[in-house]
Amino acid sequence: MVQHCLGGLSIPQHSFIAWFATLDRSLTRPRMALWGGILDLSCVLCEGIDETKDQLFAECVFSKDVWGLVMQGCHVRSCGPGWRDIVVWVQDHGKGKTLRATVLRLAWCSYLYFVWQKRNARSHGAPPWLADGIE
Ligand SMILES: [Zn+2]
Repeated sequence: MVQHCLGGLSIPQHSFIAWFATLDRSLTRPRMALWGGILDLSCVLCEGIDETKDQLFAECVFSKDVWGLVMQGCHVRSCGPGWRDIVVWVQDHGKGKTLRATVLRLAWCSYLYFVWQKRNARSHGAPPWLADGIE
């Protein structure tokens, strides 16, 4: 996965977030709580269950909506519901230097960056945001 996002055409900031996410190094709220100061571990995007990498990038209602819109824009029907399903799908379909593979890799990395950016903004007091705002 890292190679797919970092090799060839990429957007460095997006690839960096994708690299961190695929290595499960994202600073999710439970991980940050280990340092103290954070009491609420729930996802700030959907105010649902505790935030984890899988929850944030694959299971969160907000993220699912965004990913659905991204997939729709790429003319992909479905690539599976879970984090692992999506990663495997992107690895399989994002291989190579074809235009389609490049677009899928860029879309994946941009999706992760977008969710991470919205998550951070919301953590710092930004108002709730609807996924359909990206259309
Ligand atoms: Zn959520």
